[in-house]
Amino acid sequence: MDKIFSIIAREKKRQKEQLQMIPSENYASAAVMKTVGSCLMNKYAEGYPNRRYYQGNVNLDAVEDLCRERILKAFGLDDKKWGANVQPHSGCEANLGVYNGLLKPGDKILSMYLPDGGHLSHGWPVTLVAKIFKVEFYHVDRKTQVFDYDQIETQAKKFRPKLLISGGTAYPRTINHKRLSQIAKSVGAYYMADIAHEAGLIAAGAHPSPFPFCDAATFTTHKTFRGPRGAAIIARASLMDKINFSVFPGLQGGPHLHTIAGISVAAAELATPQFRAYARQVIVNAQVLAKELIKGGLSVVSGGTDKHLVLVDLRPQNLSGWTVAWALEVANIITNRNTVPYDTASPYYPSGLRLGTPALTTRGMKVKEMIKISQWILAAVRYAQKVKLPQSKSAIKADRQLAAIGKEVKAFALKFPVPGLPAQAGL
Ligand SMILES: *Cc1c(COP(=O)(O)O)cnc(C)c1O
Repeated sequence: MDKIFSIIAREKKRQKEQLQMIPSENYASAAVMKTVGSCLMNKYAEGYPNRRYYQGNVNLDAVEDLCRERILKAFGLDDKKWGANVQPHSGCEANLGVYNGLLKPGDKILSMYLPDGGHLSHGWPVTLVAKIFKVEFYHVDRKTQVFDYDQIETQAKKFRPKLLISGGTAYPRTINHKRLSQIAKSVGAYYMADIAHEAGLIAAGAHPSPFPFCDAATFTTHKTFRGPRGAAIIARASLMDKINFSVFPGLQGGPHLHTIAGISVAAAELATPQFRAYARQVIVNAQVLAKELIKGGLSVVSGGTDKHLVLVDLRPQNLSGWTVAWALEVANIITNRNTVPYDTASPYYPSGLRLGTPALTTRGMKVKEMIKISQWILAAVRYAQKVKLPQSKSAIKADRQLAAIGKEVKAFALKFPVPGLPAQAGL
């Protein structure tokens, strides 16, 4: 047997034994996984349904049509007013698809500042996007740690972007899409909402929608959407020709129809009452987590959350996010270190810790479990503070106290089966 299979078996074990608390991760269902592993991966289908550049596409057109249809339905959108492109290989490509479709080189983009919780693909200086377009960033307010829309409006009037972008990876609060679309309109800009993180919550009606306010929305299909790794663009019907031409032939070759089929399956799962209950629970769980961590003495950015993620500021504890994230990994709790607004530490050793509830909630965990997990997190943080854990991976990995927490966490995690990873053999 190929060595890769034993590596996958180890990873499957890890995904079951540890608590997955990275807010951008989730567990896809067995049906989604099966679809993505299907024979659809053998087929080339450059172009769009009814306009392919390859023969043999009698079945694949139906896959892509069904996916586009289900995506629009998931967000309650009228297919005469809105269109969907499900071909982008990932969230970054979906964003490029919009930029390449609606902008010309040298045009201006106004987007959310990365260290305040934005995303690289919105034009951070190291990206190709920043080499093509002129990018300026808006910030959260220093005191409240949330957006001040009057301030964004003033900046937009001065900068006059062609595209205003919202969305990010670590902004725990609701974004006012109506206000941002008004700001964009007042300066003649398009408004794009990147809902990569929140798409599943929005489709389930658990979080405010950017529709009908935005001109385009992009999202990944593997975060709260709970599908395979992939992405989609939804835009006003009048913009779809430009956007479709931008994705293919502008940016990509053949679409990954096995992934698109998996997205279709996830979109159908999204439309069930079970998923709606799931999405509401994800948010309740995150709010309980935030409350418990605050009760335990931690500082939570913006004082809480409206969605699936919680951002902890570790500056009062004088700890680095790096140290705590590694300590928690030894305790079998997987999180990630993150910058916090107005962080002065480096992005590699930032001052924050980012936690999320989508994957835990997929395993059926609820309020009671969140309280328990908060206690373990607090214990690890307090211990790290007390013994002044060194900034050394090997020292943290060898720590007995953290390993003892890890043992309890593992036993707890194993009581919650992962729906997409049944116990029997197989990948
Ligand atoms: C995850 C994410 C992306 C990028 O998705 P990839 O699939 O990793 O390319 C883009 N924008 C936001 C806001 C994200 O959270």
